[in-house]
Amino acid sequence: MDTLIKNATIVTMNEEKELLRTGYVLIKDGRFIEVEAGEPQAPLLEGVDVIDANGKWLMPGLVNTHGHTGMSLLRGINDDLPLNQWLEDKIWPIEKKLTPEAVQAARRLAMVEMIESGTTSFLDMYHLQMPEFAEEVAQVGLRATLMRSVIGLCSREEQDEKLAESIQLAEQFRGSGNGRIQTMLAPHAPYTCPPDYIERIVDAARERSLPVHMHLAETRKEINDYLTEHGMHPLELLEERDLLSGTEWLFAHGVHMHEQHFELLEKHNAAISHNPKSNLKLGAGIAPVASMLKHDLTVALGTDSVASNNALDLFEEMRFAVLLQRGINEQANMVETYEGLEMATISGAKALRYHDVGSIKVGNQADFILISAEQAHLHPKTDVLSHLVFAAKGSDVTDSFVQGKALMRNRNILTLDKEKILAEANQQLLLLQK
Ligand SMILES: [Zn+2]
Repeated sequence: MDTLIKNATIVTMNEEKELLRTGYVLIKDGRFIEVEAGEPQAPLLEGVDVIDANGKWLMPGLVNTHGHTGMSLLRGINDDLPLNQWLEDKIWPIEKKLTPEAVQAARRLAMVEMIESGTTSFLDMYHLQMPEFAEEVAQVGLRATLMRSVIGLCSREEQDEKLAESIQLAEQFRGSGNGRIQTMLAPHAPYTCPPDYIERIVDAARERSLPVHMHLAETRKEINDYLTEHGMHPLELLEERDLLSGTEWLFAHGVHMHEQHFELLEKHNAAISHNPKSNLKLGAGIAPVASMLKHDLTVALGTDSVASNNALDLFEEMRFAVLLQRGINEQANMVETYEGLEMATISGAKALRYHDVGSIKVGNQADFILISAEQAHLHPKTDVLSHLVFAAKGSDVTDSFVQGKALMRNRNILTLDKEKILAEANQQLLLLQK
């Protein structure tokens, strides 16, 4: 049945940056067929499922462009180490012990957290049980871009095996779940994948028109080690080997980059997933986002995993992204309020190469959330955009829809059993720690 949502304040994020103080949307076959200001005429209400938003704010669902949901049981496992030590001493040893049940519990926990905090699309980069996850995400109803990431610190045979698995996943699930599942290839990082291996992955991506995702320039150590070993920044090496052209890149982090690197990214239409909280927590630094935006790069937001965040709340990420740039540049409009919202919505969709997601407009997929403005921190209710960027929390989200289908109504998750999932997450962590 078609759905009509009326009496909402609509933050469209469309090209005209329209905000409809009171408006309605009509959804048919998972897409918006009307987005209008005012009250719907009586005939429109016949034969449709009518939801009265009661003045709630309706906006595009948030897009998380970098994460590893399979690591969600590692939240709080270690909070005070730098990236290399954190990975080598804490994360990788525990990951070796992860059972399929633990990974599944972690992912379900992450999906609950994402739905509850307004994320409707997410990128997941991981090496364990990706086909099983693709099937489960399709069932749950979230939109996702999935990839089996590879680490190339192994024999050529093992590298090839891992790449074959990545390609298999990408081809099998691309467009599944009624188009909600998309795929990429994903070398883990320049420091874990030798250049020849990245080249083979990029070739495979070009042949299949798949985008490529990789961690890049996350820490100063990564850059210094690369300079010692290869005599240049990893992005420059990608350019020297002609690996930036002919495929759509999305890089996570990009903390340690300079003017010449933004020019390369611009030249190749590469996008950046900015993960401010993860970068701060691991002491990696602050990405030069204001400079990236001046170059008209697509800068989107990511949480990274909860082992380095420790939450999947994109409202926090949006706020950190804006405030950090103002602080380090000592300028109050450096990254404007609206740009923060763009990073969390339409730019996220662009970074994941979605063409009909990320704004509330006719013809687009009906991925959206409703936010209750009843809490004191969102009063007076006047300046919606300001409140969304500087005051709102994930827990203000009351309803979540993807392709017009409700995943959460009035804070109740409809497609996952939250209570059971929370219990299972605790139980699985205890088993891991035995
Ligand atoms: Zn990551």
